Amino acid sequence: MQPILTVGSVAFDSIKTPAGEVSRVVGGAATYFSLAASFFAPVRLVAVVGDDFGPRQQTVFDGRPIDLRGLQRVAGETFRWRGEYYDDLNRRETIYTELNVFDAFRPRIPAEFRASPFVFLANIHPALQLEVLEQVASPGLVALDTMNYWIEGTPDALRRVLARVDVLIINDEEARQLSGERNLVKAARAIRALGPPRVVIKRGEHGVLMNLGERFFAAPAMPLEEVCDPTGAGDTFAGGFIGYLASAAGMSDAVLAQAVVAGSTMASFAVQAFGVERLLRLDTAEVAARFEQFRQLTQFEPL
Ligand code: AMP
Repeated sequence: MQPILTVGSVAFDSIKTPAGEVSRVVGGAATYFSLAASFFAPVRLVAVVGDDFGPRQQTVFDGRPIDLRGLQRVAGETFRWRGEYYDDLNRRETIYTELNVFDAFRPRIPAEFRASPFVFLANIHPALQLEVLEQVASPGLVALDTMNYWIEGTPDALRRVLARVDVLIINDEEARQLSGERNLVKAARAIRALGPPRVVIKRGEHGVLMNLGERFFAAPAMPLEEVCDPTGAGDTFAGGFIGYLASAAGMSDAVLAQAVVAGSTMASFAVQAFGVERLLRLDTAEVAARFEQFRQLTQFEPL
């Protein structure tokens, strides 16, 4: 089990879906990532919160191997985001993004975290992602998430950081936008030419497509009768994926395939309740049982 350093947002989210509404719940990409990854390996979280993020909010991280020494607290308000989903849960509108203390955030990696063997750069400005990489001592694996905003707004900085990444974890529309290719097989190849030798494309309810050079591996999403809130599913997937890799002895193609299913398993829980609620009351036996359901879902005999 090797530690994972992650840098990204810790937020107050307000979310409306056809299943209901919550306001000002603890969210953020790095929160979902850390909670999911911590089921498999220790996590070192670097982020910023305001003075409105008190001990009560911080309890989401309690009792888990999540090291908060890199969580900066500064005067001001925590990052806030509101999203509303349509009946088609694949479609979401961002109602507001208030950067608040995140606006002046400069990641400072504590000395104790600098030799982290696994690094996950959640979706933040690519220049900040580069700043993180400047502060760490040649990690074994660097994974990165990004979004349309940076693909459009800061393409040069994004290309500089992509050149230093081992795994890009990205959703299908972003993969198309980044590569200029509609077809995901061509998109994965074009993205590999930018640097990352492994590309993991998240396709929402259609599952995940991973490209490892010549080889592809695909996993469906778990068929669920009730999806309550898809917020953070991508970050939760990334947490399960990287967490599993950090817990494994090596990184063969077979281990990477298991990691995709571990990520999909964690994401399938996250969407079953609002915010991080389901992750907070999840136990390892449930994770193991759903991993096995995934195996059965995709198992078939040769022709
Ligand atoms: P996802 O559903 O995977 O897009 O992740 C949603 C999470 O990302 C929410 O918890 C938000 O607080 C967080 N988030 C939304 N926009 C941003 C942004 N521009 N930068 C960092 N985190 C964000």
